[in-house]
Amino acid sequence: MPKHLYIETVGCQMNVLDSEMVVADLRKRGYELARDLAAADVILFNTCSVREQAENKTYSALGRLRSFKKQHPEKIIGVMGCMAQKDQQLVFNRAPYVDLVVGPGQLARIPDLIDEVTAGKGQQMAVSMGRKDGPIAEIKRSHETFDPLRDPTMRPTPFQAYLRIQIGCDKFCTYCIVPMTRGPEQGRPPEQILAEARVLADQGCKEITLIGQTVNSYKHTSGGKTTRLSDLLHALHEIDGIQRLKFVTNFPKDMTDDLLVAVRDLPKCSSYLHVPAQSGSNDVLARMKRGYTVEDYREMFGRIKATIPAAAVTSDFIVGFSGETDDDFQKTYDLVAECRFKNSFIFKYSERPGTKGAELYADDIPFEVKNRRNNDLLELQNRISEQDSQRFLGQRVEVLVEGASDRAKTRGEDAGDIIQLTGRTNDDRIVVFDGNPRLIGEIIPIAIYDVSPHTLFGAVVTQEVGCDSGLPLQIA
Ligand code: SAM
Ligand code: SF4
Repeated sequence: MPKHLYIETVGCQMNVLDSEMVVADLRKRGYELARDLAAADVILFNTCSVREQAENKTYSALGRLRSFKKQHPEKIIGVMGCMAQKDQQLVFNRAPYVDLVVGPGQLARIPDLIDEVTAGKGQQMAVSMGRKDGPIAEIKRSHETFDPLRDPTMRPTPFQAYLRIQIGCDKFCTYCIVPMTRGPEQGRPPEQILAEARVLADQGCKEITLIGQTVNSYKHTSGGKTTRLSDLLHALHEIDGIQRLKFVTNFPKDMTDDLLVAVRDLPKCSSYLHVPAQSGSNDVLARMKRGYTVEDYREMFGRIKATIPAAAVTSDFIVGFSGETDDDFQKTYDLVAECRFKNSFIFKYSERPGTKGAELYADDIPFEVKNRRNNDLLELQNRISEQDSQRFLGQRVEVLVEGASDRAKTRGEDAGDIIQLTGRTNDDRIVVFDGNPRLIGEIIPIAIYDVSPHTLFGAVVTQEVGCDSGLPLQIA
């Protein structure tokens, strides 16, 4: 009888990819995926620690399993990912019925640890070394990942995949827990990355998104030769079957000209660049220890636009960081108004124990002020995003069709000859349109007739819509 696994994932692309790897590993050992907790033998939570709210949600979900575990003591409950690495024994203290705690650098051990629990050996914990726990080479090894295991059935779509090129982070922004949970920055060897990309292409994958915390800082040196992200993009561009290449997240100071030129010159490269600014105030940036000023950010932004005029640039901002004054916030607001990002992710500062920020600075901005700044910035960004979308009205865009739209799924309208579909342009714009489900996985032209801040609405270009409709055939 196969065993069943239920896995819940929150957080960033790294976590989505980690879950894919764990599922692939357990499938090799005979596990099948369960749709709900009741049908599962093993229940895993892949967790995030970036903000307190994400952790609270996981602990609440665990709390709801207390009586379930009493009724089904044979079911194995595991906590994996960044919260497992950060809280370690605390997870067992808060939820004593949890069987496994596994950090993101130890995921390859999950199948064996499950066997240990099944064999009656009690709770199991596998975490990586802390940043000061020994020689750097040993710390790095303890954070290694096991990426070659790819499982197309675990991806949101089989024709899109994340490919990790870098693990960890050495930037140590004072607000951020990631350097502690994911360990030192390490670029994967280019041969490994290319081999994995070929496996993905053979599996029918058309779009690869390279991921790393500061993906554009990627470097790997061996035999006296250093490979940069731009070199990788050139090599990946040669792989047949791969039609789109994206990469996230970029660090402003490492946005070098060779990379921008590669994006400009390689047709498969997406001109979507996520480059978080975090704040528009030099005082706040200095306290965040981001390593650049707002003038540096503007200079970098100018270089992006000069090299790739059509680039879709997006950003992240934290509002209400320690000591942020109204004047500081106004500077952030002004930066958003000036750069006119395609969109921005805006977060209220959440103090993270274990970071320099928590040690050095008080979390002194009242919740109402954080909330107001969050709403004001969001309102500005939405207005900009809507205006930015307007220019696509009447244009034709190339869309990779991802599947049924959320509306079609929630209304149960996702079966039939013609359903509402969703897809993305190469610069990461969401497009919704009606079409036949057999278009899923194809890259097709769509004529845009309506827009909202974050979505373009269109129709499949056919003889009736498109060339003959008088719409200009400009590809965005
Ligand atoms: N490495 C990426 C970078 O440097 O832009 C992002 C990593 S982080 C997981 C994603 C975003 O979460 C950050 O860009 C930041 O805006 C936000 N973030 C990180 N720590 C935070 C905190 N303590 N409170 C609120 N937002 C936070
Ligand atoms: Fe966190 Fe800064 Fe590293 Fe991004 S660059 S993961 S925000 S420490």
